[in-house]
Amino acid sequence: MKAKRGPVWRWVRRLLIGATATVVGIVVVSAGIFFSGALAGVTQSNINDVEPDEPLPAISPEIRAAFQTMFVADLHADTLLWRKVVLNRTDRGHVDLPRMAEGNMALQVFTMVSRTPMFSRGPCLDGDRFDILNVLNMGQRRPISAWFDPVGRVRFQIDLFHTWEADSVERAEEDLETVRLEQITSGADLDAFVDAWEAGDRVVAGVLGIEGANALAGDATLLDEYVGEGGVRMFGPGYLFDNLATGSSTGCTAGGLTEFGVDVVQEALDRDVLIDLAHASPAAIVDIVELVEAHAEAEGRQIPVVVSHTGIQATVDSRRNLRDEEVRAVASTGGVVGIGFWSGAIGRTSVQRVAETLVATRDLLSEPSFAEAMRQRHGRYDPVDHLGLGSDFDGAVTTPVDASGLIYIAQALSDVGFTEPEIRRIMGQNVCRVLYQTLGGSDLATAAGRCHTLQRSPPTG
Ligand SMILES: [Zn+2]
Repeated sequence: MKAKRGPVWRWVRRLLIGATATVVGIVVVSAGIFFSGALAGVTQSNINDVEPDEPLPAISPEIRAAFQTMFVADLHADTLLWRKVVLNRTDRGHVDLPRMAEGNMALQVFTMVSRTPMFSRGPCLDGDRFDILNVLNMGQRRPISAWFDPVGRVRFQIDLFHTWEADSVERAEEDLETVRLEQITSGADLDAFVDAWEAGDRVVAGVLGIEGANALAGDATLLDEYVGEGGVRMFGPGYLFDNLATGSSTGCTAGGLTEFGVDVVQEALDRDVLIDLAHASPAAIVDIVELVEAHAEAEGRQIPVVVSHTGIQATVDSRRNLRDEEVRAVASTGGVVGIGFWSGAIGRTSVQRVAETLVATRDLLSEPSFAEAMRQRHGRYDPVDHLGLGSDFDGAVTTPVDASGLIYIAQALSDVGFTEPEIRRIMGQNVCRVLYQTLGGSDLATAAGRCHTLQRSPPTG
């Protein structure tokens, strides 16, 4: 009898020991995480590091002077994942309001992530894997509604952003050094902001964006809530894994837009929300651009799309990066490709590499037959109009500079041969133009007229 029961018993015993160890492990780890308020800070300073692989370039007097009046905008930061307060300067992560002001930033798109599966193995990212945001949200003592539920997480981040804005306005009334944050939700907001910024006010603009249609949990009416009540103005259906709306460039199926995806992208277009192709699969990019072009034709004006944070396959061959024809598809809508600052996107963590990738992107857009087709279609065409910054600040990446160091990007652009007007467009004017066209419903000529001349009054005294 014993001989027969032996293997079964060993198996049961192993299972019991294994299960007990797992439960104890989970309890210990969770308790440690939950009760250590420092976790958020520790993870952030390790994960969102600033460490250039190459020395930063020396700043020339010309760039120093030009940068003081330069409109600087960035298409992607995940700061809302981490921060409770951005009003104070810290050395953690990449973005806070004082560092934005120090770096002469005018505008940052703050993007909301709502699910991040970890421990994916193999060539693709499986969305069913353990969601690291469970731990992160618990560890940062966010409300229980934000622990496991993607919708709760988005609502929390929207509220958090609105709190930053209200607190900064309140504090600015007492302390003139405070940098005010203003949410941009319309063309009128952008107009008022640009006026204040040009006049030299201590103010920065924030635009709310969604990264990944999993934020909708299959319910298209939530987009209504996020846009209407939350003021979300940018929507990227894709993220690291395939979701209910779209295939992902790193997803296991990487298919095109689903029926639900078509509905939500159409809804976003109808509500003048800027569409972000970041993380979308090649098939989905084709599908989305088709919807956008049809919408543009119906509206009788250009409807630009962006890729908020990316590299290009022409310099770094990875699935996450854009193919040549995808770069051109973005430009053909009048949109902007935001080049990232992290090594996975551009090959090395350096401002020089950011500049070199922007050169390579421009070169793809300068291909003669494409350039000629663009000229015929839009009248005016300059490849540089379609280049921008998409740092991925605070996106669990190491970057060569933080928000306070963007002058080094401007210098690197100068060092690779971009002219001053070109540098101004890449550093932010192009993002301004695309936002005007989208939020303000304005045509290309009006938006370009407003944005391509932006200059801040140089500081006095
Ligand atoms: Zn991303």
